[in-house]
Amino acid sequence: MSAQHALWHPFADMGAVDGDRMVITRGEGSYVWDDAGRRYFDATASLWYANFGHGRPEITEAVSRQLGELDSWNLFGYNANRPAVELADRVAALAPEPGSKVFFGSGGGDVVDTAVKLARAYFAQTGRPEKVHVIGRAQGYHGTHGFGTAVGGIPANAAGVGPQPPSFSHVAYDDAAALEAEIARVGASRVAAFFCEPVIGAGGVLLPPDGYLEEVAAICRRHEVLFVADCVIAAWGRLGTWFGIDRWPVRPDMITTAKGITGGTIPLGALVVAPEVASPFFTGKPGAPIFRHGPTYAGHPVACAAGLATLDIYEREGLIPRGRELEKPLADAVSSVRGHTLVAEVRAGLGFLAAVELTPEVVDADPGAPVKLQRACRDEGVIVRNLGRGVAVSPPLVAAEPELDLLATALPKALDRLAAQV
Ligand code: PLP
Repeated sequence: MSAQHALWHPFADMGAVDGDRMVITRGEGSYVWDDAGRRYFDATASLWYANFGHGRPEITEAVSRQLGELDSWNLFGYNANRPAVELADRVAALAPEPGSKVFFGSGGGDVVDTAVKLARAYFAQTGRPEKVHVIGRAQGYHGTHGFGTAVGGIPANAAGVGPQPPSFSHVAYDDAAALEAEIARVGASRVAAFFCEPVIGAGGVLLPPDGYLEEVAAICRRHEVLFVADCVIAAWGRLGTWFGIDRWPVRPDMITTAKGITGGTIPLGALVVAPEVASPFFTGKPGAPIFRHGPTYAGHPVACAAGLATLDIYEREGLIPRGRELEKPLADAVSSVRGHTLVAEVRAGLGFLAAVELTPEVVDADPGAPVKLQRACRDEGVIVRNLGRGVAVSPPLVAAEPELDLLATALPKALDRLAAQV
């Protein structure tokens, strides 16, 4: 489908996309088909989320059953619906902190913005209203809502849209001492939260140095700064554990998650809140402070029914540990391009995600080279994602040896095709 249409794609060069739109019409397991009937290995799990693959009848059944029973109901005030109540309990039971509470949203960006507001609301309710500053990391990505854009550390994503909100700053993504220095600069009495992806995803698949997550968590605790683990990508098996951050011995105050919570089938985000942070709002008596926040579709019953069916699949099929079991095979597969003249770096080995970065010479000469590499992989039957100065992969957790072999073969061929173009 190459003609011009009304559809405006996120993060897209529409001048290029209009002539080269890839319309996917069907999916099954680790594979998808386009409107010309071509099959591809979906090495991206669409957008880091189709963790159990595509085309699951269990989800179709759960969603249609829910639509037949109760097609919508909200959570405002006294309102509730059964799937939201059940899913919140199941997510909380899996959370690292016993007694956690769960606040739903429509996706990752929703719950990131919820987390910023709740961090500030928590300090306001506990007598420290001046604690409002939020620190993120260079190259961090936290969605495209207002606060998520501000806490994100990819400058291009905040450029050209006017001034960003005050009281946000950023530190190097791999230096715990830089966080402590920034807290000292701002003043611990003014800092509310630090946002941290266990593995930076959209910023280029950047792995944390050994000991980094433990150190930043300890620094946050020392200065009474809330440690918010953004596990929108990292959770639901991507790093081989339920939330991703629970791979390390740290205790986040809040965890943001979305995507794989429904395998991407229905939009849903969840903010997991440790009991201490929730406590001002759960006094057990009427008249408790109210968190005046909540999107219309928070805890939509159809999304939560998909979430419940998703957790069933992960549990029944033992998919969660696969994110760790498959990290070495994936690293081996992408290592097929180590040493290629166009490749500067291969990042892999922690969780079921990886990136191949092109050399500065290639990208400086042609900033479109990552898109061309993505296109060349597509021509080899594999969908990868162009990201920053290279491409990223994050296959469904149901992918196995044949799919990883396909990737290992397609990547070098695609790089050779690119070499012929640059
Ligand atoms: N946080 C992280 C770490 C993400 O990777 C993303 C999306 O990729 C988001 C937040 C935003 O989620 P959404 O796109 O569902 O708003």
